[in-house]
Amino acid sequence: MSYICLVCQSEIDVDLDRNLIQCTKCGNRILLKPRPPALKKRVKAI
Ligand SMILES: [Zn+2]
Repeated sequence: MSYICLVCQSEIDVDLDRNLIQCTKCGNRILLKPRPPALKKRVKAI
């Protein structure tokens, strides 16, 4: 599973088996779960 780093916006492959959730580029531990595109709501422009 991949997450998005809050700091450098990198896509991080998280090793869930080792419970290691950390950005490998900047060392940040706050990662965002990317939302599936299907859940995006379309808003009609006025
Ligand atoms: Zn990062």
